[in-house]
Amino acid sequence: MNEHDSEKLGGLLEAEGYRATAMVEQADVILLNTCCIRAKADQKALSLLGRLKLLKTKRPELIIGLCGCLAQSQGAEILKRAPYTDLVLGTHNLHRLPQLLKQVLARKKPKLELVEYSAPLTAKPLPVSRNNPYSAWVTIMEGCDNYCAYCVVPYVRGRERSRPMRDILTEVRQLADGGVKEITLLGQNVNSYGKALDNEFGFPKLLEQLNQISGIARIRFVTSHPKDLSASLIKRMAELPKVCEHLHLPLQSGSDKVLAAMNRAYTQAEYLEKIQLLKEQIPRISLTTDIIVGFPGETEQDFEQTLTILKTVQFDNLFSFIYSDRPHTAASEFKAKIPRTVSRQRFQRLLKLQQEIAASRRKLMLGQPEEVLVEGPSKTDAAKLTGRTRGNKLIHFTGSSDLIGELIQLRIIAAGKNSFQGEVIS
Ligand code: SAH
Ligand code: SF4
Repeated sequence: MNEHDSEKLGGLLEAEGYRATAMVEQADVILLNTCCIRAKADQKALSLLGRLKLLKTKRPELIIGLCGCLAQSQGAEILKRAPYTDLVLGTHNLHRLPQLLKQVLARKKPKLELVEYSAPLTAKPLPVSRNNPYSAWVTIMEGCDNYCAYCVVPYVRGRERSRPMRDILTEVRQLADGGVKEITLLGQNVNSYGKALDNEFGFPKLLEQLNQISGIARIRFVTSHPKDLSASLIKRMAELPKVCEHLHLPLQSGSDKVLAAMNRAYTQAEYLEKIQLLKEQIPRISLTTDIIVGFPGETEQDFEQTLTILKTVQFDNLFSFIYSDRPHTAASEFKAKIPRTVSRQRFQRLLKLQQEIAASRRKLMLGQPEEVLVEGPSKTDAAKLTGRTRGNKLIHFTGSSDLIGELIQLRIIAAGKNSFQGEVIS
């Protein structure tokens, strides 16, 4: 969602006549679109903002803006510490960028604009500057009401709001007319889409409607919450041909005690039941997950239960994070914090196990035929093309540039750590 917000900021700038430069030293305007999900994200943004001070000293006319979640949560304090920042814009009012830039240029200095409220998502979509002409992100909902104990999202993205279905369908039809073949639906908790709208218009219904749009060949979505992954949604995913065989389903922990303390609202057994159902109904499904290591109170036994689940489920990939305190969250008040050295060791053990699992999963793909959407020249080898499978795996292969933007059949001939090599079948 953060990257998609960057595309919107880029789109707004382009609409004003600005152009992107690859050289930061040449820029007239630099916007940092920030994330604050973990302490490390905060630190990275602040250190980059610190480094930009030097450029600003050399070229005082340079405009520096801080946008996104860190701006939303700590914008006022940061402006005090880094007064050379010209513009602070939170997550709820991206569309105000052009006006604010004009004000900064006119030296009126209304630097800070943070809107607290959670506006309904009815506004027409902002212009978007996309790198990939065939694959697009589409926001379907924003905000979150789940209040997982570790998570800052509800405090910076506001209450859960779903976009009206007709607005989403219109946007996707326009994308299809413009040549987009793959869409990724975005939201903090996509499968509770429509909760506040009429029940009939829930997430399975949205998938059904999107599946009918001609030109669109693939539908993906992130992120799903295990508690809201219903049997009827799984059934619909299995039935609808355009919904890709990939699901990112954050587990966070394998211990019921930790899951309860996290306020995740599911147990280990419930999670595994859903995985079982997914594997039965969608045999080719590729599963990925998020894990937090070192949540307050996590014992060695709790952690081992997480490892056990990883062995049982066999995820293709996982994103693992060492727990960090976030402002406002319940867990930041929890007393039983885990020492950094212990969390680090657990983190390393988790990675090692997952590397073994991922390697054996990759072997299973060798020799398999795969449908690939060709994205363009490979970033690592310009003589090759690159594309993604329905399971969201990156594949490099030799082929003519006419194939760019096409759906083709490849066979996987070699597996690397982060990508595969393939050969064209048809
Ligand atoms: N809405 C998604 C997750 C969004 S945040 C969901 O419910 O799963 C992305 C990931 O960041 C989370 O899944 C979690 O693993 C991690 N994360 C969030 N807050 C964290 C914190 N305080 N410390 C460490 N990891 C965190
Ligand atoms: Fe954060 Fe939990 Fe909401 Fe995900 S579901 S955004 S982890 S509060």
